Amino acid sequence: MTSPIVETPIVETSRLINYNVEEIRQDFPVLSQQIYGKPLTFLDSAASAQKPQVVLDAIQHYYAREYANIHRGVYYLSQVGTQKYEDARVKLQKFINARSPKEIIFVRGATEAINLVAQTYGRKFLKAGDEIILSRMEHHSNIVPWQILRDEKDLVLTVSPIDDKGNFLFGDYEKLLSERVKLVAITQISNALGTITPIRDIITAAHKVGAKVLVDGCQAVPHMRVDVQAMDADFYVFSGHKIYGPTGVGILYGREELLNAMPPYQGGGDMINSVTFAKTTYNDLPHKFEAGTPHIAGGIGLGVALDYVDGLGFDNIARHEQQILDYALNRICEVKGVNLIGRADHMAGIISFTMDLAHPHDIGTILDQDGIAIRTGHHCAQPVMDFFDIPSTARLSLGLYNTEQDIDRFIDGLHKVNRIFS
Ligand SMILES: *Cc1c(COP(=O)(O)O)cnc(C)c1O
Repeated sequence: MTSPIVETPIVETSRLINYNVEEIRQDFPVLSQQIYGKPLTFLDSAASAQKPQVVLDAIQHYYAREYANIHRGVYYLSQVGTQKYEDARVKLQKFINARSPKEIIFVRGATEAINLVAQTYGRKFLKAGDEIILSRMEHHSNIVPWQILRDEKDLVLTVSPIDDKGNFLFGDYEKLLSERVKLVAITQISNALGTITPIRDIITAAHKVGAKVLVDGCQAVPHMRVDVQAMDADFYVFSGHKIYGPTGVGILYGREELLNAMPPYQGGGDMINSVTFAKTTYNDLPHKFEAGTPHIAGGIGLGVALDYVDGLGFDNIARHEQQILDYALNRICEVKGVNLIGRADHMAGIISFTMDLAHPHDIGTILDQDGIAIRTGHHCAQPVMDFFDIPSTARLSLGLYNTEQDIDRFIDGLHKVNRIFS
């Protein structure tokens, strides 16, 4: 394989020392826009994060100058594309510290990754009466695929509880574990509440009874260094678009021996060794699970997004986001009639809340008039809304580019909501 001619953009490492958020914001063209004549205040990164210019450039460059289908081309462009796509896989491997790039399966996103595990691992290895443990805080995409499988195979789904602050109740979880439990599928950070779960302990306890663990890492990877070997995860999934990469691409990490034992998910090109009408043999990992032409530009763009985040440094990002979160938590308490939903002992940069006077939808609409983007609704986590006995919340979520000024505008918006509804 020839090496690629075009270098992928590199983020200057000088920023490692000095986290200059104003300078970092310049990397995100969307943030300099006006919405209804007001500066954009983007506080919805948990739904999807904005993209830095380096990611946009990498995608544009690939389509403009290097585009061709990958993996079987003998000619120059195909080889350059293949190399870049496979380089991105290696970046992902290093990013989460997998043992081998074969353990990194490119998928459409976390949703597809979880469905893949349910429909391959679950179908082959789980049988009637086996139990799967989920938490009360799961995103619908870590609930519904297991329900489909449960109904097909007569499995038992067990829900591990939380307390009224949104803490994962580890003691209760341990009591649910038994020889019947074959799989635990749990989020590392709740997208609805911001709760950080004790994932390392959850996995250790599951392994003691012989259960495998799938970790939903969607909300964790943008905020903290993830090490799948240190946490000892069997499967780990996340979407590229929440970590400043493109939509339509994400990752399933699986232990090599598990992935090897699983049947293929979809059939098609790229996932085969040889095909006759009598018999088809499957390709090796990771290609066995990657049927069809992949999202080549997406994979390459995601690799560049990881470079970008690594260039800033997780220590710096986490410190900055914690500072903004603390500031937001302090300031939101000034606003009359605000109820925080979920105040777990360990929380990431997500604040879910309701207001006495206004429905979440109205809060979102009023803030929008001032260019402030927050999410309102059930956040694809209806079971946790039921637990708090509410249909929906308003939710602020932070990215690496948010500032105290964003929070000030948001707080002004909440005061305005109170003025309108009082
Ligand atoms: C966003 C999210 C998902 C689903 O991700 P998609 O990109 O929609 O596939 C799953 N779990 C959590 C915790 C999420 O935040």
